[in-house]
Amino acid sequence: MISLEHVSKRYGDIVAVDDVSLTIPSGQVYGIVGQSGAGKSTLARLVNLIERPDSGRVVVDDVELTALNDTDLRAARRRIGMVFQRFNLLNSRTVRGNVELALEIDGTPRARRQARAQDMLDLVGLGHRGDAGIHELSGGQQQRVGIARALAANPTVLLSDEATSALDPETTASILDLYRRINAELGLTVLLITHEMDVVKSICHSAALVEHGRVVESGRLTDVIRTP
Ligand code: ADP
Ligand code: ADP
Repeated sequence: MISLEHVSKRYGDIVAVDDVSLTIPSGQVYGIVGQSGAGKSTLARLVNLIERPDSGRVVVDDVELTALNDTDLRAARRRIGMVFQRFNLLNSRTVRGNVELALEIDGTPRARRQARAQDMLDLVGLGHRGDAGIHELSGGQQQRVGIARALAANPTVLLSDEATSALDPETTASILDLYRRINAELGLTVLLITHEMDVVKSICHSAALVEHGRVVESGRLTDVIRTP
């Protein structure tokens, strides 16, 4: 479970996140939806504490991240796998090398890293492309590599920030299918940040609607989105 308690973050005069309290239950696909500039990315960075809030508490799986020092925080952050819109893959490395990267930082032995990377690539349907260069892959395939990399460190939460925004509808649908499987088969909580209501409608169990840095609505999808 992820819980935000009265979390605020400002940049100069801009209040990007304004006193947000939110509970995201484990095991769900949970959407955070709102227009550009609403504060979604800032919320994402506060959940994994890439940035610390000015005030409030962030608790993930009973660990209060906001109470940790930087060293403990780096370890705790591994509970949360991040998938980015702009993929953030290294062109200088192979597909497998990119996935292994997540495990090099903590000194996982080479053989274990390779096996884990292969498992994750199999999971996302790219088991046969491990030796390929990043530039040889389509956008959708690169996104799958990003997902495999995020999963490699065995997180409990997969946090996706506009990860399908740069993809065409068909590729988006296949990536959403993959998220659905990751949620159903691996039991991960999937936190989807998006400006696309259709994405939320197609796979989220619950969602929070963000406007001007505040959560204006949250809960089961049927309660958040009123369809006529
Ligand atoms: P969204 O992801 O919903 O588009 P963001 O969280 O990126 O929204 O931004 C929310 C607000 O905070 C915007 O007004 C944005 O310009 C501002 N903002 C976000 N990050 C920064 C930053 N690093 N420095 C200054 N302003 C920022
Ligand atoms: P996104 O909304 O997906 O984060 P953006 O292109 O709006 O994408 O922002 C890219 C990066 O720039 C983010 O890390 C964000 O925090 C930062 N950023 C956004 N708005 C501002 C701003 N007004 N001043 C400084 N940095 C910003």
